Amino acid sequence: MTDPTRITHLVGGKPWTGEAERTGQVFNPATGEQTGVVDFASADLVGEVVETARQAGLAWGTTSLAKRSAVLFAFRQLLDERKEDIAALITAEHGKVLSDAVGEVTRGLEVAEFACGIPHLLKGGFSENASTGVDVYSLRQPLGVVAVISPFNFPAMVPLWFVPVAVACGNSVVLKPSEKDPSAAVAVAQLWLEAGLPEGVVNVVHGDKEAVDALLTHPDVASVSFVGSTPIARYVYETGTAHGKRVQALGGAKNHMLVLPDADLDLAADAAVNAGFGSAGERCMAISALVAVEPVADALVTKIAERMTTLRTGDGTKGTDMGPLVTSQHRDKVAGYVDAGVAEGARLVVDGRDGEFDGGSGGYWLGPTLFDQVTPQMSIYTDEIFGPVLSVVRVGSYDEGLDLINANQYGNGVAIFTNDGGAARRFQHEVQVGMIGVNVPIPVPVSYYSFGGWKNSLFGDSHAYGPDGIHFFTRGKVVTSRWLDPSHGGLDLGFPQNR
Ligand code: NAD
Repeated sequence: MTDPTRITHLVGGKPWTGEAERTGQVFNPATGEQTGVVDFASADLVGEVVETARQAGLAWGTTSLAKRSAVLFAFRQLLDERKEDIAALITAEHGKVLSDAVGEVTRGLEVAEFACGIPHLLKGGFSENASTGVDVYSLRQPLGVVAVISPFNFPAMVPLWFVPVAVACGNSVVLKPSEKDPSAAVAVAQLWLEAGLPEGVVNVVHGDKEAVDALLTHPDVASVSFVGSTPIARYVYETGTAHGKRVQALGGAKNHMLVLPDADLDLAADAAVNAGFGSAGERCMAISALVAVEPVADALVTKIAERMTTLRTGDGTKGTDMGPLVTSQHRDKVAGYVDAGVAEGARLVVDGRDGEFDGGSGGYWLGPTLFDQVTPQMSIYTDEIFGPVLSVVRVGSYDEGLDLINANQYGNGVAIFTNDGGAARRFQHEVQVGMIGVNVPIPVPVSYYSFGGWKNSLFGDSHAYGPDGIHFFTRGKVVTSRWLDPSHGGLDLGFPQNR
């Protein structure tokens, strides 16, 4: 066993050299070994970091679009080259398998690519001669210091949803990643420096509620972009907006997959397994409730269970299909839901509690689990489990399935599997969910659209990245301009009218 590595803040382009009063432990979930100790920022330190960011932002916000996009292109290139290194850090602290970790970085990279187009994205409107001799045009300007607070499950991708767009728009950033797997965020932040971004424009502080509260209440933090569980998202939204900030707070999810009787059941079963158990179900877009419109449920459950027998759960560096859960507490919580599902009367088709795992005996293991005959009252249906547990709910019709989905408190992602274009079209119109897949189980929008759910999956009205991201990270101005000539003379106290 080696000594845990110290993971510290990145402030003004340099690792912090102070001594933390409080720290957290970081583990390798595949072995249970403590690999890191992460410094927690005090409120005072957060204040210092915000000031560093504010100072750096003064110059960055007036840096030309040509220079900003040059940094973005360099960052994009470095991130592409170091993808594997970042992925290795993710697997070591989160547990997801390496190929999945590379996929995560690649989806984050797409946002950096989107942000490379910032000169085009920040173009305003111009109306020549809106009134005689008067031109009107619009500008978008940076907010100043923006805070990003991210969850454990996408330690690189979620920060990348926000930071490239915020930086491209001319802001400076204080990122507070999850304290459970903080190293990937630091590694990506260091790439910004290599890419030529001035020191202090992107900073990282580690910590827990104390650091988050300091960001939510600091007068120089202009906006907060949060991703995490629904109770904390609601708290962040309410606290941040009460302190005058612009807030987008993305919360939890319970994503449904509606399978109509005419669907290709083999494709639907593949999709359910991939979307249910990828990243051990620790994805905000994971499918956790499969709604089977009868008479297909029996056949679908059989096909899913068959596929599940082929999955290998184990250490993500060993070419397995599914890794461990993130912490031992989370593993026990998810296993507790399996116990509850049995106690509440659901039919346990595949039990992940007793599997064979290709990893350390101290790892946080739980195999893929399948329940059938789940009812909407059971806790395995009502709660976000955030683990490898797939629940099949049987319904009699499309309408019954739609009503079930729309009654759910969450509205992040949803998928419909069908060969009926008319049904799919009706579904996309009627379902109360932000991101919809038609025969696509994890419909994460590409970077030039925006990512976000409805209902308790998002507080605020801006989704992440894409056009919403540009809008969120800038403030609008409209200029009405006239270059005087003698004909403009004379007094007139009336309200200006177009002439
Ligand atoms: P979490 O809410 O526990 O933590 C998220 C962030 O909030 C972390 O940085 C954490 O340090 C901080 N935090 C935790 N408790 C806090 C408190 N009491 N006060 C202030 N800050 C606090 O979430 P998690 O467990 O890291 O991530 C999993 C959750 O994130 C799931 O619910 C998942 O659905 C959700 N998620 C949602 C999306 C989305 O796009 N909607 C994406 C990824 C994850």
